[in-house]
Amino acid sequence: MTEVLVIGSGPAGLAAACAARALGRRVVLLDASDYVGGQYWRHLPPERPARREAVLHHGWSRFQAMSQALERDPLCEIVTSAHVWAIDAGRVHVMVGEADGAGREARTYAAAAVVFATGAFDRALPIPGWDLPGVFTAGGAQALAKGERVAVGQRVVVAGSGPFLLPVASSLVQAGSTVVGVYEASHLAHLARQWTARPWQLLATPAKLLELAHYASVHVKNRIPYATGRAVTAIHGGQRVESVTISAIDETWRPIPGGDVVVAADAVCLGHGFTPRVELPIAAGCRLDARRFVQVDEHQRTSVAAFYAAGEITGIGGVDLSLSEGTIAGHMAAGGHLEDRALRDARARRDALRSFAERLERAHRIGENWTDWLSDETIVCRCEEVSVGRLRSVAETSRSSGLRSLKLQSRAGLGACQGRMCGRSVETILAAAAPGGHLIDESTTDRRPIATPIRLAELAFGNDKSVEK
Ligand SMILES: Cc1cc2nc3c(=O)[nH]c(=O)nc-3n(C[C@H](O)[C@H](O)[C@H](O)COP(=O)(O)OP(=O)(O)OC[C@H]3O[C@@H](n4cnc5c(N)ncnc54)[C@H](O)[C@@H]3O)c2cc1C
Repeated sequence: MTEVLVIGSGPAGLAAACAARALGRRVVLLDASDYVGGQYWRHLPPERPARREAVLHHGWSRFQAMSQALERDPLCEIVTSAHVWAIDAGRVHVMVGEADGAGREARTYAAAAVVFATGAFDRALPIPGWDLPGVFTAGGAQALAKGERVAVGQRVVVAGSGPFLLPVASSLVQAGSTVVGVYEASHLAHLARQWTARPWQLLATPAKLLELAHYASVHVKNRIPYATGRAVTAIHGGQRVESVTISAIDETWRPIPGGDVVVAADAVCLGHGFTPRVELPIAAGCRLDARRFVQVDEHQRTSVAAFYAAGEITGIGGVDLSLSEGTIAGHMAAGGHLEDRALRDARARRDALRSFAERLERAHRIGENWTDWLSDETIVCRCEEVSVGRLRSVAETSRSSGLRSLKLQSRAGLGACQGRMCGRSVETILAAAAPGGHLIDESTTDRRPIATPIRLAELAFGNDKSVEK
């Protein structure tokens, strides 16, 4: 039996695997991607290496040290292209092979302890015209720039909320785009209030401040305009993006009349924060907290015995927090103790970085009136082409407040991405239109008993080839 199974090989998963190996446990590290590294260390494939890969990444030497140690280690099995598609009675079901390819190998793992480190998706709010070619999520554009050296456009607008917009703009410039501007929806006064409160806490996170300073210098060097209290509220074009409307918005993100300008651009990158990938912890029965992240205690234990969680599924806080949480989760999953010397640094860093993460969340929270920039024709669920008007009319005419029944009637969130892109926006719009102004289901759009696409033949016959690991 596997002693520690780690799902996800981003910063949190790599750190967890290293910590569990340091205590001598046999580790299996699974990741759906072709390479380890997760979102932060998304890199060029070995067949197309960059001459100086390190300049494209922060903390590249740390990544190399961790990944190479695990790759050389005979008691750590790294399985890439490993899609964990279900968890059932503690058993982890995996399809290994090219995503959606034929002939994948089915495996089932039963482990003494499991660490979830599945990270987060980037979130983009719906905007009129966001279904035009040339609109990307900020993370998608970042993945193309870092993982493929592909620039998504020549004149690119970056908009949304959060410090993630800064590395995205930097990567776009490095990939050859002109960034027309970065438009942060939060207001300067609100940002200043959040960032300057309790400044001593910021001093405990010098790496974050240095990273921010680096991005600021790239912006200054490349003369990238940065504006706050502004949002892209409409995207225009015939066959693809040609221009965007940038609106002045109030602190609740309601557009201010007379505050619009139209800017020419051939691509737009939208980033309104992140949504944790919690379908596997939900399938395992783990409790979520009020913000819908996986609830963990100071040991990084979830509410289900032998299941731990680390990284962005427990809260959005950046790479260093993911590394610290991963170290603690891996150590505890391997049978270590919280007071062990090996955890001293990771615990101190985690505590400092969590307060940084809370500050981040307060500074860049989504304003409640963002729905004011929608029209009835705006598509919300892009897979099933469900518009705002359709969602509202289903909620109003059915007189239902049940998420499941409203989803089934409108088909929102039932397409290829299973609500990963639109789920939370669909919930907001349905809740506002439902009787009583809220939904009554306990279930949410985060619940996906089948976590990744799987062929019917694999579902029907997969067990024939399954190996108990
Ligand atoms: C698209 C995107 C790009 C980002 N780029 C940057 C950046 O350039 N700079 C920056 O500072 N921050 C970036 N971030 C934020 C950054 O991801 C985090 O700070 C950090 O990487 C989180 O680490 P993690 O280990 O929690 O998760 P991640 O790094 O997201 O790693 C999670 C891993 O879990 C795997 N996984 C998920 N579900 C399954 C499954 N069912 N089966 C198997 N494997 C699974 C994924 O393939 C992934 O490799 C980005 C985030 C996103 C979403």
